[in-house]
Amino acid sequence: MSKYRIGTKCLHSGYTPKNGEPRVMPIVQSTTYTYDSVSEMGDLFDLKTDGFFYTRLANPTLDLVEKKIAELEGGVGAMITASGQAASLISITNICLAGDHVICSSSVYGGTFNLFNKTLRDLGIDFTFLPPDATAQDIENAFKENTRAVFIETLANPSLVVTDIELYANIAHKHSVALIVDNTFATPINCRPFEFGADIVVHSTSKYLDGHAAALGGAIVDSGNFVWTKEKYPNLTTPDETYHGVIYTEHFGKAAYIAKARVHLMRDMGAQQSPMNAFILNLGMETLELRMKRHCENALKVAEFLKSSDKIKTVVYPGLEGDKYYELAQKYLPNGTCGVISFVPKGGFDAAVKFMEKLKLTSLAVHVADVRTCALHPASTTHRQLSEKQLEESGIDPAMIRLSVGIENIDDILDDIRNALEN
Ligand SMILES: *Cc1c(COP(=O)(O)O)cnc(C)c1O
Repeated sequence: MSKYRIGTKCLHSGYTPKNGEPRVMPIVQSTTYTYDSVSEMGDLFDLKTDGFFYTRLANPTLDLVEKKIAELEGGVGAMITASGQAASLISITNICLAGDHVICSSSVYGGTFNLFNKTLRDLGIDFTFLPPDATAQDIENAFKENTRAVFIETLANPSLVVTDIELYANIAHKHSVALIVDNTFATPINCRPFEFGADIVVHSTSKYLDGHAAALGGAIVDSGNFVWTKEKYPNLTTPDETYHGVIYTEHFGKAAYIAKARVHLMRDMGAQQSPMNAFILNLGMETLELRMKRHCENALKVAEFLKSSDKIKTVVYPGLEGDKYYELAQKYLPNGTCGVISFVPKGGFDAAVKFMEKLKLTSLAVHVADVRTCALHPASTTHRQLSEKQLEESGIDPAMIRLSVGIENIDDILDDIRNALEN
């Protein structure tokens, strides 16, 4: 598949039917698989052979979707999960134990921030959060003896900060530490973080990859490039007693990280995606390139309109010339950023609420990255747990509106916004 261009991969990677087989990827809606002999099953349990024995670990439908996502990102393997949250959780716990430390951008998705800052902290993993515009020196200074991962977002949700992936990758690698990049908003159509030195990519597939707001899901992709040292990553490089002493880096080579995520953490945590959701996700991914183009075209037009309106204080869209992150977006996302725009109407919190309630075509929804245009007011919803100081650190104005521009006719989208801005 690797010879094809990415839009073709969206359609054809993963499932390739043989003579007489269904043209559309089938759903294997089964939790179990039968074998003729006990020894065949035993070998599966001992990781001696590849195969399916229980859907909590692996399933043929999920397997095909995982192959497609791995090809789109250019990795050696992928694992899909029940949600993006599960992907972020496993991406960290796969390499961090109690007592370890992680460096994370403070502009990450609110759900990720809570997971790290509360739940994982409570479990003994320490975090340092860096401001969105941390300099090389700031990043360097955040490293500790026990740092085991750096976590950033290509395009932050909802602040739309474009993160300098190469800068983070170079510093992390100097310390022999892995860089994990949440590539949800950019999608592999607009950015492939492995090409800039990222080691692991995570996704909430609930966003553009599915794209239709139909199926919750997540994914972890392994570049296969990172060298896991004995000193920093004993859980990948020393025997796992639960598999008769398997050493992941020896047994799985370049795919050690993603293999361990599956056979160890998916086995134990069970945050598996359902085959039905994987089927829906795959249908969505078939049109990913087409949709991302339209999302970006429409969003740029909306951003230009908002920028020219006297009712708007600020517009943030990294694809818009003059945006604070325009240059970084040109480097990392030259073909377009995403459909999400954030803007601040004049008149503060109340004006934002009034605008939201006047929208007709645009639905009020927590979701983003949907084919249908929708809007969210983070300060009163997703980020309401954050203090004013934390809001400020995440780059969120109390009046900020996050608009997820869909793929409707652009004139209908603009009419709706224009109307909601009228007093
Ligand atoms: C939505 C989102 C998540 C969480 O994904 P869920 O599928 O909702 O669990 C993680 N990261 C980013 C950037 C997101 O937008």
